[in-house]
Amino acid sequence: MADIYVFIGPPGVGKGTLGEMFCEETKAVHVSTGDLLRQEMAAGTELGNKVKGIIAEGGLVSDDIVAEMVEGRLQKDDIVAKGCLLDGFPRTVPQAEALRDILKRTGHKMAAVVSIEADQQMLITRLTARRMCTNKECGAIFNVVAMPPKTEGICDKCGAKLYQRSDDTKEAALHRLDVYAKQTAPLIDFYKKEGKLIRSTSRDLPAEANYANLKAALKA
Ligand SMILES: [Zn+2]
Repeated sequence: MADIYVFIGPPGVGKGTLGEMFCEETKAVHVSTGDLLRQEMAAGTELGNKVKGIIAEGGLVSDDIVAEMVEGRLQKDDIVAKGCLLDGFPRTVPQAEALRDILKRTGHKMAAVVSIEADQQMLITRLTARRMCTNKECGAIFNVVAMPPKTEGICDKCGAKLYQRSDDTKEAALHRLDVYAKQTAPLIDFYKKEGKLIRSTSRDLPAEANYANLKAALKA
């Protein structure tokens, strides 16, 4: 029986980095459902082959399949010994209900669900910061916040103009944040009712500072 943690957070909040820091410190196993799907497919397990078929037909992998895969993973020795941080699951209330049943069967304990939150404007700034070089042979990528080009709009490496991909526009960012908010609000309510929800606000600070903040929220 081990402690299971779940981090949820909007695109651009730095959830991946905070998750890595958490697993590094606590030795909890990092379990990403995306990685699990890829591993099952690569290993050619029965489940993996089923998933391959679904993806080949352009279908979506159902909650049941993801839940089955997570349940299998949670029974492995490393997680039984050290616990884990779930990444990418649950995303919806039906998945959260499935996870509750899985934990009952496997004997693990939901230690906490951390909702990592941030100011909308900060998220938009981060999600729209990427710039690509228009010269396909160069392919350099810049970030106007973290790694800006020396001259605005111009590639440092080859002097060609930079552009913003359609996925990186403000409109696209607003859409992603909206989808996240709609999908996650019921999940947040679910875990609040279960008494498992912990909120942590990330700010425009180095990851270490946001991590310290998250740890303080977990201990409070
Ligand atoms: Zn270039």
